[in-house]
Amino acid sequence: MSPKTVPISPERRLNWFTIAVLILLHAGAIAALFFFSWKVFFVAVALHWIAVGFGISLGYHRLHTHQSYQCPLWMQYALATCGTLTLEGGPMFWVGNHRIHHAKSDKPGDPHTPREGIMWAHVGWVVYDECRDITHDYTTKYAPDIARHKYYMWLNRWHWVPSVILGLILLAWGGIPMFLWGICFRVTFGLHCTWLINSLTHVMGTQRFDAGDDSRNSFLLALFTFGEGWHNNHHAHPTSARHGLAWWEFDISWITMKLLHAVGLIKHVRVAKLDQAVLNRKAA
Ligand SMILES: [Zn+2]
Ligand SMILES: [Zn+2]
Repeated sequence: MSPKTVPISPERRLNWFTIAVLILLHAGAIAALFFFSWKVFFVAVALHWIAVGFGISLGYHRLHTHQSYQCPLWMQYALATCGTLTLEGGPMFWVGNHRIHHAKSDKPGDPHTPREGIMWAHVGWVVYDECRDITHDYTTKYAPDIARHKYYMWLNRWHWVPSVILGLILLAWGGIPMFLWGICFRVTFGLHCTWLINSLTHVMGTQRFDAGDDSRNSFLLALFTFGEGWHNNHHAHPTSARHGLAWWEFDISWITMKLLHAVGLIKHVRVAKLDQAVLNRKAA
């Protein structure tokens, strides 16, 4: 890869509210280390699975953005609600932004390509207002299917409400330590997991397919992101519900989907087939 770093445009405005929230979350995540107990740790792990595993990987990403499988409406809404618990924005923002990423991957107009700098791809694009200025495009061009649902539009406007409710429940249940682990540490960790997919898996890792962009596969990131680390596979086959295409490519979301399919909760699952010639080819 030969990333060409371009300067950040002077029209980009910093969003100080977002920056303040991120600083507080990181401070809370550090404070959480002084309140460790196995109980709060496992609550944070369970919430990470619910928010990133179900909300982002199975919901916002593989269902709402790429429609790689079908499920009942109540489940679509439940997954989107879990997605908001990551504080990565509402379904309209997430889906629209991610579809733009696929449409313009590592080309001008990609909201978070590392070609504009690795830090821009990781967190820079989040703290600038630029992405939020194209909301009109999200509705009319990139996510009209999401805009048709009143619940998604409500959730997009009030995406932070489920997290506030969860925070209050955690405070009442286990006090400050439970809040610090269940919200601050867990959300901060989840944000960096997602951001690493945007930054690192477009820079480091192996490339099985020529997807026309810089996307890579990363085993390590796939472990923490419920299979999202198989990013080169995904860019080459965006509508495939399965991202880890080879048997050794551990993809927890795919295993979860097989279970959900077996009990009849999801159907019409789209899966890319990896032919033997591609499998035998040495990764670049
Ligand atoms: Zn990507
Ligand atoms: Zn995608």
